[in-house]
Amino acid sequence: MTRSPDPRDYDLDGLRVRVMAEHGGTVDDSIPQLAAADPDLCGLALVLTDGTLLASAQADVRFSVQSAVKPFLFALALLDTRGDALDLIGIEPTGEAFDAIKLETGTGRPPNPMVNAGALLTAALVDGDDVEARNDRILRGLSAFAAQDLEVDEGVARSEHLLGDRNHALAHLMRAEGTLGVGADDAVAVYARACAVLVDARALAVMGATLACGGVNPVSGERVVPADVARDVVSVMATCGVYDGSGRWMRGVGIPAKSSVSGGIVLSTPGVLGGAVISPPLDEQGTSVRGRLACEALSAELDLHVFGSLAA
Ligand code: GLN
Repeated sequence: MTRSPDPRDYDLDGLRVRVMAEHGGTVDDSIPQLAAADPDLCGLALVLTDGTLLASAQADVRFSVQSAVKPFLFALALLDTRGDALDLIGIEPTGEAFDAIKLETGTGRPPNPMVNAGALLTAALVDGDDVEARNDRILRGLSAFAAQDLEVDEGVARSEHLLGDRNHALAHLMRAEGTLGVGADDAVAVYARACAVLVDARALAVMGATLACGGVNPVSGERVVPADVARDVVSVMATCGVYDGSGRWMRGVGIPAKSSVSGGIVLSTPGVLGGAVISPPLDEQGTSVRGRLACEALSAELDLHVFGSLAA
């Protein structure tokens, strides 16, 4: 059995050049700010469990986190409700798009925390009596995951709130089912602002690494969430993180991940590393095309597939 290659020796810039040769996919146009993204942006970062950061060119270019925030909203909801969030949200994959207007049959709960219905609810479950307090709680919580003070793109937050018709529909549906305890518009406002938090690949990789380290941020040393919360979150990333592409992702890449419409992907391999890729053009399931290629290569070349090694 060969020893796994050391990620410290890995040529992330070389990988970036290799995936830049791919020109497939379409940049999301759900809001003007995302439609204006540079299709040639491509950045990669890895953070090891000892806090070592490896970054390619453009790993410091900021983008709105979008759905890559969902694992961290779930973590904060689990923390702030002392686990009750697990009774209020399902954890089964949907086989449907991220914004499907669908709740769990029989219970009216969101199907899982990685689709929009679930994230609208997790964002509503964090501590805070009103929209502003929950916004603050989320920004502080995300900043602890990232080991830096994160900021919100207010223009993106406004667009998401104004143009997120399907999110408004989901919030109203959950109100009708009795599964959303805050006002529908308030729920959309908080979720929209969470999606508009700015990160770069480095910050997002630190966030993934915090989950990979059982909830302890390897850069700041801070315990952000308990180990059981981190494990629950990574489990649901593994089964639901890439929406209706989660099965194909798990087979081909084998690293728990969360995709997003901005083209960011956050990765978390427990006990090994966290990572992030940003490249805006997306495939039909809303996954970054170059991001997938990069993750397939990372998995194969660093022997990261959680379900087994093909190394001789
Ligand atoms: N802000 C987006 C939305 O709710 C996030 C979706 C995503 O990244 N898949 O529509």
